Amino acid sequence: MKVNGTLMNYYFHCKRQCYLFGNRINLEDNSEEVKIGKAIHEERAEKENTEIAIENIRLDKLTAEYLTEVKKSDADVEASKWQLIFYLKVLKDKGIIRKGKLEFAEKNKSDKKTIVIELTNDLECQLGDYIVAIEELLDSEEIPPVLNAAKCKRCAYYEYCYI
Ligand code: SF4
Repeated sequence: MKVNGTLMNYYFHCKRQCYLFGNRINLEDNSEEVKIGKAIHEERAEKENTEIAIENIRLDKLTAEYLTEVKKSDADVEASKWQLIFYLKVLKDKGIIRKGKLEFAEKNKSDKKTIVIELTNDLECQLGDYIVAIEELLDSEEIPPVLNAAKCKRCAYYEYCYI
C-alpha cells in the first residue's frame, strides 16, 4: 500500500496498527471509534458542504489560508499533526500552499482546542524520513509487538492483538 495520511497517523499511534492496516488486514469497518470519527466528518461535510477529495485523501475544509482537519479527540495530537503535515505536503506538491489547522471536536465550543501548523523545510525533511520508515515497516517480515497500552481497548485491532 502506498503511504497515505491514515498510515502516517497510525505510525505515530501504534506501529503494529500501521503495519496491519498497511498490509491490508482491515478490521476497521466494525470499530466504534472509526464509526464515530467518520460520522463527525460526514456530519460536518454535509452541514458545511466543505469536504474535498484530492487523489485518495479527503480534506475536511480548505480555505484561502488553511487546510482544516477535524478530530474527535485530542488523545493523540502527534499522530493527528503528522497526518495533517502529510496532507499539507500533498497539497504543496500540487501547487496549493496552505497552513494546517487541527480542530478537536470533542471539546465544547468555548474550550475548543485548535493547533496551527506551517509546513517548514524541516518538517518536510522529517516527513520524507517518516515515509521511508513506513515503507520499510510495511515491507518487514516481522509484525511489531503489541503495545499493552490503555488505548488498545479503543482500537479496531484489539481482538486481533489480544484475543
Ligand atoms: S490493539 Fe494496541 S497493539 Fe494492537 S494495533 Fe491497536 S493500538 Fe496497536
